[in-house]
Amino acid sequence: MAEDDTPQRFRVIPGGPAGDEKPKPKPYRTRKRGAAQLLTCWQCELDTGVSGATTMEVKQGRMVRDGKPEGGSRAIICVDCLAMGKVTHLLG
Ligand SMILES: [Zn+2]
Repeated sequence: MAEDDTPQRFRVIPGGPAGDEKPKPKPYRTRKRGAAQLLTCWQCELDTGVSGATTMEVKQGRMVRDGKPEGGSRAIICVDCLAMGKVTHLLG
């Protein structure tokens, strides 16, 4: 920073948030998001040549407490496979 003789009301303090050389890292992590793509079934494509794109969300490993379900992990399975007697996990 060059010093000059003109009176300044405010000075930039080196090392401060505005005068720093490097920008401070953001308190949150910026995520790069990819483009959305259709969720299709690889098993259908193997079996029939057409990749199924109809899915359903299910829970596996649920527990029951006092007659109410709790816990379990979410999974997305292919409906076309299910109709043919197969359970194909796509996500989760
Ligand atoms: Zn399928």
